[in-house]
Amino acid sequence: MAAMPATATISSGARVSVLVIGSGYGGSVAALRLAQAGVDVHMIEMGMAWDTPGADGKIFAHTTKPDERSFWLRTKTKQPLSSFLGFPIDRDIQRYTGILDAEEFAGITVYQGRGVGGGSLVNGGMAVTPKRENFRAILPSVNPDEMYNVYYPRANAELGVHTIDPAWFEVAECYQYARVGRKQAQRSGFPFVFVPNVYDWDYMKQEQAGTAPRSAVAGELLYGNNYGKKSLQKTYLKQIAATGRVTISPLHRVTSVTPAPRGGYTVEIEQLTTAGAVSTTKTITADTVFFAAGSVGTSKLLVKLKATGALPNLNSEIGKGWGDNGNVMCGRANHIWDPTGTLQASVPTGGIDNWAAGGAFAEVAPLPTGIETWASFYLTLTNNPHRARFHWNPSTKQVDLDWQKVWKQPSIEMAKTIFHKINATEGTIYRSDLFGVNTIWGDHLTYHPLGGAVLNKATDNYGRLVEYPGLYVMDGSLIPGNTSVNPFVTITALAERNIEEIIASDF
Ligand SMILES: Cc1cc2nc3c(=O)[nH]c(=O)nc-3n(C[C@H](O)[C@H](O)[C@H](O)COP(=O)(O)OP(=O)(O)OC[C@H]3O[C@@H](n4cnc5c(N)ncnc54)[C@H](O)[C@@H]3O)c2cc1C
Repeated sequence: MAAMPATATISSGARVSVLVIGSGYGGSVAALRLAQAGVDVHMIEMGMAWDTPGADGKIFAHTTKPDERSFWLRTKTKQPLSSFLGFPIDRDIQRYTGILDAEEFAGITVYQGRGVGGGSLVNGGMAVTPKRENFRAILPSVNPDEMYNVYYPRANAELGVHTIDPAWFEVAECYQYARVGRKQAQRSGFPFVFVPNVYDWDYMKQEQAGTAPRSAVAGELLYGNNYGKKSLQKTYLKQIAATGRVTISPLHRVTSVTPAPRGGYTVEIEQLTTAGAVSTTKTITADTVFFAAGSVGTSKLLVKLKATGALPNLNSEIGKGWGDNGNVMCGRANHIWDPTGTLQASVPTGGIDNWAAGGAFAEVAPLPTGIETWASFYLTLTNNPHRARFHWNPSTKQVDLDWQKVWKQPSIEMAKTIFHKINATEGTIYRSDLFGVNTIWGDHLTYHPLGGAVLNKATDNYGRLVEYPGLYVMDGSLIPGNTSVNPFVTITALAERNIEEIIASDF
């Protein structure tokens, strides 16, 4: 277990210099750079610290044996793949402040990490810098030279991003599924590219060889990796701990931020029990507040605070520009002579690039069931044009998202540009048993929520909420709905860029 920032239960009545809401990528970058500049920081995280083993001696639950640690306040799991061979695979669990939240809106389920480290605790570790020619469309107000010369390299170095050893890829039993994916892509004329990852590849080799405890090779992913993945706990948060200037309150949730009578901001915070109940409500004052609660968390807070009069002057762009990064999933049934292997590393390592021609990039994903499935499985990122908006609903006192399920259809069409062709070449069909009965497309979810407080619209060009000096946005809500690749490297690089300017000009 890496050294973590000191946990401290913040006291009601406290006054802090900087409060960071959320401990994912945006929050961790902000906290580290502020601390290194000599500023004391307190981080508030609604999830758990994830630093203590459970009864089985492991911190994180196993993918195929989900227990209370696996889901955020649910009594039944809500796995992205809901069935196998037509049989439902979700199971009852104890309600607990577990690591993966499947947050349900009317038209989409949004998966997010909960805990110190945010999404880095549960994600696939795929660490991709978008192609430079796509960057202009993503963040047109940002100087690409700065991003590609300074901030992307900095983010990649700090996160520990590397690509698999290509020679090992050719022989690793746990990547047979990816080699089948490559062979079939290439037979249909699509380029197969390696996807960089934050997983420790040397550790993976030891796992495969049986000389180290298995983690990715044992299928660990969605509910945390016990060994090889370099989550933020092993990178930014470890560095944060070394500064000695940052404390963090886990199991605390920010519910309100409003200008304080004598300067700074009054922040309302709920302390949670592991059953999700509010044990204490606290009021503190912060000179400066960074919203880094993730695209959904930050957007929900800001939309509520504007609508309920806590921050009424926030501009009309708040809540807009939300997208799902075009996520859609599917599986294909292979022939009996194309087995994908019983041993499958949970960390994907390559993808099929048809972005320029078809608006789709398909990651060859594992199905780590431990049995031969003869299935190829894919998460496809597509150039879906739809953008949704968060609204305050005064009758339910909740924030709704107006995403519609039919808005996934363009993503399906883009994904078909790859898989219809592969099926035609191979003489194969889609699997229709993974997302319910007779359902081909996993079009009900996203792992990549983006937008809701878009850079240079809801904020200035560096994440400042200019109507309220001292309030900043620092996470995936700044990015308008799509990054053309997996998003966390861009979220990290953008946070590095923004915090540098904010420290230079505002502190
Ligand atoms: C299953 C899964 C797989 C993924 N795979 C990949 C991948 O391979 N590559 C990739 O690039 N991306 C992947 N992602 C997406 C990636 O993890 C996110 O884009 C990224 O974590 C977002 O970073 P962030 O800083 O915006 O917010 P987050 O990392 O989501 O952090 C926000 C934090 O704020 C906390 N919070 C929210 N509201 C409050 C509140 N009111 N008070 C206090 N705390 C609060 C949350 O608990 C959370 O810890 C995946 C996501 C999931 C769920």
